[in-house]
Amino acid sequence: MIIIDKKSECSGCEACASVCPVRCITFEADGEGFLYPLVDESRCIGCGACNDVCPVENPRHPIAPRATFGVVNPNRAVRRLSSSGGFFYLLAVGIVERGGVVFGAAFDEQGAVVHRGVESIDELDALRGSKYSQSHIGSAYAEALQALADGREVLFSGTPCQVSGFLHLVPQEYRDRVLAVDIVCHGVPSPAVWRARLSEITGGGKPLKINFRDKRGGWAKYGLAVEYRRTDGVATESYTPKDKEPFYRGFVEDLYCRPSCAECPSKGFSSGADLTLGDLWGYEERYPEDGVGVVFVGSERGAKALESVEAEKFRVEYSEAVAHNPSIEKSNPAHPNREKFFSAFLSIGDEGKGCAALIDKNVQKPFTELVIGFVKRKFGKK
Ligand SMILES: Cc1cc2nc3c(=O)[nH]c(=O)nc-3n(C[C@H](O)[C@H](O)[C@H](O)COP(=O)(O)OP(=O)(O)OC[C@H]3O[C@@H](n4cnc5c(N)ncnc54)[C@H](O)[C@@H]3O)c2cc1C
Ligand code: SF4
Ligand code: SF4
Ligand code: SF4
Repeated sequence: MIIIDKKSECSGCEACASVCPVRCITFEADGEGFLYPLVDESRCIGCGACNDVCPVENPRHPIAPRATFGVVNPNRAVRRLSSSGGFFYLLAVGIVERGGVVFGAAFDEQGAVVHRGVESIDELDALRGSKYSQSHIGSAYAEALQALADGREVLFSGTPCQVSGFLHLVPQEYRDRVLAVDIVCHGVPSPAVWRARLSEITGGGKPLKINFRDKRGGWAKYGLAVEYRRTDGVATESYTPKDKEPFYRGFVEDLYCRPSCAECPSKGFSSGADLTLGDLWGYEERYPEDGVGVVFVGSERGAKALESVEAEKFRVEYSEAVAHNPSIEKSNPAHPNREKFFSAFLSIGDEGKGCAALIDKNVQKPFTELVIGFVKRKFGKK
């Protein structure tokens, strides 16, 4: 039976609930907005299946990727609507055209992030683009397993811990029909903080379209674009460039990422994914507007999938990709003000008023840390 002593020991992948034969595991959000499993002990039969699929309890060994590529989708419009080079879309189209189902993260009507399956090219738009809030798996694993049982191909995409959890659920005889795709994962921000910030932006209005990686300022200088209907019924748009939007800063400074992200169980290509996608940072001058993705090949199946798509592809040294993107290998420690932030966050109401100001206030590192950082940079002390 799953017992969580420390919050960092659960990445919230939701695999345990999917495998439980008596369905006695449910999920409940804590005060920070992250979901944790709750076991109804009176119904648990002690089979241990939940422990067997947990990626934290059963970490795979990190591996060195077989190859690293820069990849650019030749379709500029698709690239523009994707976070990096638009490679995910190319893979997804191939699967849908062959009658398969593609699973990934999408926004629901309230702007929360949820996993869902897509079977047509028109619907693929919903899965495109990075969403900076932990996605709720819900019934996605069960639907993917059903599609496999029906003899179909499945592309399952998500964070490395979600992909790892999913692969623990897939029976070996189906593995040949699964293309497992994960992302380079800095960490996932709190759904509660995202809900509050979105509500603050929309003034309680209804979100219509959200883009965390709007490229109007360029690939690296992305911004947050939210189209919404105000409470008086008027449709409008809010756009904040990356350096002005507090939500990004709180995210990259790890003010409100999930506790497990500081000790990630699935770093270093240990999720079992066939392909891992990220941004090829360091190439901003060569691809200033729409960007370029980095693709790490984890398996023969991944190599074949990459070969099958028509795109601009070029070999990159692994060390070069990592040099500009430390999250590929390393977990990021939580911000020193994380606890302080969350205790104050609890008083922010549903309308999210004061959310941005609270992030701004807490994202500043304590003065002593800033001084130590400055001394280290100036005099090179480790
Ligand atoms: C929370 C988060 C942190 C990231 N951190 C880094 C990083 O540190 N360095 C880096 O190089 N790249 C990072 N990425 C990945 C990067 O932003 C792109 O998603 C990736 O390069 C694929 O780009 P694309 O253009 O090929 O496809 P896109 O269309 O941009 O990507 C869509 C893919 O992202 C998945 N996805 C989107 N949001 C989520 C979510 N909330 N949870 C699970 N899966 C999601 C979709 O399921 C789909 O597979 C991160 C993405 C997310 C969501
Ligand atoms: S031990 Fe078995 S029955 Fe109990 S919670 Fe885990 S999977 Fe469910
Ligand atoms: S990491 Fe996943 S499988 Fe393990 S306890 Fe948490 S939700 Fe369950
Ligand atoms: S950093 Fe690790 S634990 Fe956190 S969401 Fe990403 S893969 Fe999961």
